[in-house]
Amino acid sequence: MNGNRVQAKSVNRKTVCGPTSETQQDLLGWYAKHQRQLPWRLRNDPYEIWISETMLQQTTTAAVAGYFVKFLARFPDVHSLARASLSEVFELWSGLGYYSRARNLHKAALIVSANGGVMPKSVAELLELPGVGPYTARAVAAIAFEVPVGVVDGNTIRVLSRHFGEPFKWWEAGDRKQLQEAADLWVSGAVSPGQMNQALMELGATLCTPSNPACLLCPISASCQGRLKQELLSLPLRKTQRAREIWHWQPQVMERSGTVALIHNTKLPFLKGHWIFPGPGRRLMRPPKNFGFRHSITHHDIYVRVQKLPVSKMQSLPARKKLGVAQDGLGKRSSKGNVSTICSEVEKWESLTRLSQASPSSILKKIIKVVAPLVSSNS
Ligand code: SF4
Repeated sequence: MNGNRVQAKSVNRKTVCGPTSETQQDLLGWYAKHQRQLPWRLRNDPYEIWISETMLQQTTTAAVAGYFVKFLARFPDVHSLARASLSEVFELWSGLGYYSRARNLHKAALIVSANGGVMPKSVAELLELPGVGPYTARAVAAIAFEVPVGVVDGNTIRVLSRHFGEPFKWWEAGDRKQLQEAADLWVSGAVSPGQMNQALMELGATLCTPSNPACLLCPISASCQGRLKQELLSLPLRKTQRAREIWHWQPQVMERSGTVALIHNTKLPFLKGHWIFPGPGRRLMRPPKNFGFRHSITHHDIYVRVQKLPVSKMQSLPARKKLGVAQDGLGKRSSKGNVSTICSEVEKWESLTRLSQASPSSILKKIIKVVAPLVSSNS
């Protein structure tokens, strides 16, 4: 490569240029010297990279490292992950949040294991696995298999927006596409796509940080347009935060021979797809006065009040009413303008021990703690 820019493309807003080969080498040199020692960087194993990239979605590197080591100790390869039960996977995922990732990881492991344990190599094939979106597909393809594709995540969005000095609306399709093209240009030419993508992400994680970028230490500061234009802190643009929702959830404990009634949640907007206690959930305008504890999941602030339904009452009521839940009402607005949601009828009876093992969710663990003294046997 000579010192010319590796490629240029005309797109809607402006011409997005790739870095010069010198800039690429400066960044790679810095990465070789300053990269953090992270457990998934010890071996360039596609399975390990897939696991780490899945864990890293919505979660910080510091939080993921410990989980990754324990997960790999228990599931060292895709076959061991495929053989495990979902509750075993959840147990090791417990605390990482966004549990659909664990569920999909397990589903995808079954597919890959049935395919002889060979991970797909191309972005298109990776995208066919459950739970693998554009970010994970590109990261695995580039890092594990050196496919020349750029990775767009929070860190690279920040670095690229600042380096180009361009206020990309990264959440809109057009600008996102432009950012993707920009990221692809960084892996053009005689560079390792795996190393280059990791270098850009590492720069965003360690030097080009959101509020206090260390430009004096930055290997690409000479060509950084945001720094030259003194627009660093306004870049990248901030997406308007989604409004927080207040919910009052009253899970109801109904016991039968040491087991409790559970439903499969398809209605409450949090804990979707989990086995939960039945009971009404209601969206409110302001926090309720009567609650046991508060728990937040993404943009939901959930005020929980656990109730025990007397067995005598259950026996005298028809099936649905036994559970003390609304028949319907999802999306219906009450006279106060609140939205009620429903829980359907009991779908199974389960011991608290098994529920705790099968569900990694912190809010359910808190409820189980409250519920345990109310249930005669937890085994
Ligand atoms: S010079 Fe500063 S703003 Fe530009 S990429 Fe480097 S750390 Fe980020």
